[in-house]
Amino acid sequence: MKCSEFLHELTDYLDGVMDSPTKAELEEHLAWCHNCYVVCDTTKKTIEIYRDSQLYELPENLRTRLRSAIVQKCQSRKKAGPA
Ligand SMILES: [Zn+2]
Repeated sequence: MKCSEFLHELTDYLDGVMDSPTKAELEEHLAWCHNCYVVCDTTKKTIEIYRDSQLYELPENLRTRLRSAIVQKCQSRKKAGPA
């Protein structure tokens, strides 16, 4: 498998929607190609952070403060001039 092929399949691989023979080929590529390993690892971590942040609940008081800060910003922007 070439690096370009690997990168093409990478998102399917990380989504886990891949059939076993292709998955085995990708893992074999990862075993010897450090470049693709780094890309794969970085992408995987990014996805994990994204998933974690979706699950992460903001504390109620922080959420309220954030919301009022956003509202204030919108209001001051309206006052600042014609839209
Ligand atoms: Zn590669």
